[in-house]
Amino acid sequence: MLNTLRDITQAVASAGDLDTALELLVKQIKTAIATECCSIYILDKDELILSATDGLKPSAVGNVRMSITEGLVGLVAQREEAINLADARQHPRFKLFPEAAEEEYRAFLAVPIIYQKQLLGVIVVQQASARQFSEGEEAFLMTLAAQLAMAVRGLKQKASVKGREKQILFQGTPTSNGIAIAHVLVLGGEISLQQPNRKAADVKVELERLSTAVSRCRNNLGNLSQRFDREQDQEVVAIFSALTLLLDDSSLGGEYVREVEQGWSAESAISRVSLRYIEQFQSMDDPYIKERASDIRDLGQKVLRQLIEPDKWVLDSDKPVILVTREADTTLLAEFPRAKLAGIVTELGGVNSHAAILARALGLPALTGVQQVLASNIDKKMVVLNATRGQLMVSPSGAVISEYRSLLNAEKALQRQYMQEVQLPAQTLDGERVNLFINAGLLSGLASELAEGADGVGLYRTEIPFMLQQRFPSESEQIKVYAQVFNLVAGRPVVMRTLDVGGDKPLPYFPIKEDNPFLGWRGIRLSLDHPELFLVQIRAMLQANGNSEQLKILLPMVSNIEEIDHALEYFEQAYNELKSDVNPNLSRPQLGVMLEVPALLYQLDEVAKRVDFVSVGSNDLTQYLLAVDRNNPRVSSLFDSYHPGVLRYLKSALELCQQYDLGISVCGEMAGEPTGALLLSAMGYRELSMNQGALARINYLMRRVRMDELQALLQQALNLRCGAEVRELLRSYLAEKELAAILN
Ligand code: PEP
Ligand code: MG
Repeated sequence: MLNTLRDITQAVASAGDLDTALELLVKQIKTAIATECCSIYILDKDELILSATDGLKPSAVGNVRMSITEGLVGLVAQREEAINLADARQHPRFKLFPEAAEEEYRAFLAVPIIYQKQLLGVIVVQQASARQFSEGEEAFLMTLAAQLAMAVRGLKQKASVKGREKQILFQGTPTSNGIAIAHVLVLGGEISLQQPNRKAADVKVELERLSTAVSRCRNNLGNLSQRFDREQDQEVVAIFSALTLLLDDSSLGGEYVREVEQGWSAESAISRVSLRYIEQFQSMDDPYIKERASDIRDLGQKVLRQLIEPDKWVLDSDKPVILVTREADTTLLAEFPRAKLAGIVTELGGVNSHAAILARALGLPALTGVQQVLASNIDKKMVVLNATRGQLMVSPSGAVISEYRSLLNAEKALQRQYMQEVQLPAQTLDGERVNLFINAGLLSGLASELAEGADGVGLYRTEIPFMLQQRFPSESEQIKVYAQVFNLVAGRPVVMRTLDVGGDKPLPYFPIKEDNPFLGWRGIRLSLDHPELFLVQIRAMLQANGNSEQLKILLPMVSNIEEIDHALEYFEQAYNELKSDVNPNLSRPQLGVMLEVPALLYQLDEVAKRVDFVSVGSNDLTQYLLAVDRNNPRVSSLFDSYHPGVLRYLKSALELCQQYDLGISVCGEMAGEPTGALLLSAMGYRELSMNQGALARINYLMRRVRMDELQALLQQALNLRCGAEVRELLRSYLAEKELAAILN
């Protein structure tokens, strides 16, 4: 049974379109259940349409339609449960559709196909003899329907049922609001070095392809190298130079050419040369030489990508593109030239994954959970991405494009309006000042005009400088990166968080394999297990700060007091060593911990005895309080920082910190959302740290509301049933103030 289920599900998942998938399905189900007829009805608007059948009249497909109040199939849809009848004719809801020629069938079993509470269609099996389908058959069909639901939903979106609409519309979950109109660039996943051995049809043509790919690769490496050179990162520059040298004729570049000259296709040549050298290098004893195998692999993949994804990384056109990919990782987004990126669409990834946070930080419209988008031949097509509404329109009409262009212009005008006031303080109409900080670190640089408008950096995530390297950055490399941040926000405070890798932020050179990475070896847990790395980082932060008062150090993922004590011991060690050996006037920074593991709330008295402040990481806090993975699109509708339970928790945290005289701020995503900023400031939070793209907007908003009104709203919000009601409450408040546009 399991094998049959797996075969059917796989066949459907790999079908390119809905019609093919449904045709396959009816045939395979009919065989699996050994019955005489199987049909599938797909729900389109309010109608169930017979969309495939093996057993009814083929001409009925597309023509038999019923509302969900009609017939037995309608009843299954209405009740959202299976119906299993020995003789369908005896049932009061039985309705005969003569055009389907189903007179002969009596036995009837139907199950609904439901994806995330949404009815997609109904599967029906029928048989002439009046017999009851067994419980096992019913369970099989229900299991199948549940397994297929996701694929059917994706294919259904793609098809917009029977192609009645020319424009294809995909739906997804917004991760970063906004509109973009551009052509699509599909970026595939991993490029395998194992390419099939294929002979060249024309050696001259293959040599040309190879030469173009190699020179593109060379340019690419040159560009990357220049960027890091600007950032004065000589170690990374050296890595790129070494790879570029390998491309030379006297090195691997020449080997690739020789292989093509011997008659292989360019792809096969790169594959053959790379695999041969990797094997040789790996069999060496010298660990340094062994290591070089990874350079050969890296280079081979880079050149192959230029052959396989031509015109992709090196974007010929100056026009920005909408990137469509299976799952965006932070490194990909950090590396992609910002000026060429108009939006991001992914099949996987959650609303609060780090790639999503990065998209918001970059101010890029982004959608996630867009099923089947990669299978839809969307590459290079013109699309309108309306991330705010969760929609992606493929090949839209001219009228639609011009409508969206005017919306886009209106949006830009709003942003300009917000920017005009970014230098003015975020003070409410009744005189309450809220300090606004920026979250940085996920980007290689800070946008200086926004940095000027901020009261400082409220969260500097040190992970990205670590992720962009090929190994742990050295102390002096780290000092350089941190010093740049201090310079940029001249004199204002910078909260630097120690390394928070693990979870969805892996380091390429330090792989961690765990079943539950978000409950695993993350943040301070990893740092305390590797004091040699932790001490280097603390030393680098302290030295970059020198005698200034800018630095505050923040510890991520703290779940118990012992961790704070150990971290403080290491801090003292690093501080005292530097003070006696390097700089007797070294400043002593404030120290803080992230409040993101829920239990810490009940020990804030102990926390207050040890550190100066806490910073609420509402992203992880929400995930741990609600037991909802922040990266999983299946449960993203449950990830809700406005859940009244979460809001009550946040209010308690503030009150306890006030009681224990412990500083408190929020640096999770909700601090940069209008609804979140209003509610948090009403609770009493006076330090909010947000991504750079949100700062001007929140500043503008704060200057137009009254704190006493917000406090009254908060009282109501805390007593509502769910997050949706909270958001609606805030939405109508903003609409009353004619500020609703700020929510878009
Ligand atoms: C958080 O968890 O809210 C937070 C700010 O940290 P990160 O998103 O980097 O985990
Ligand atoms: Mg966190």
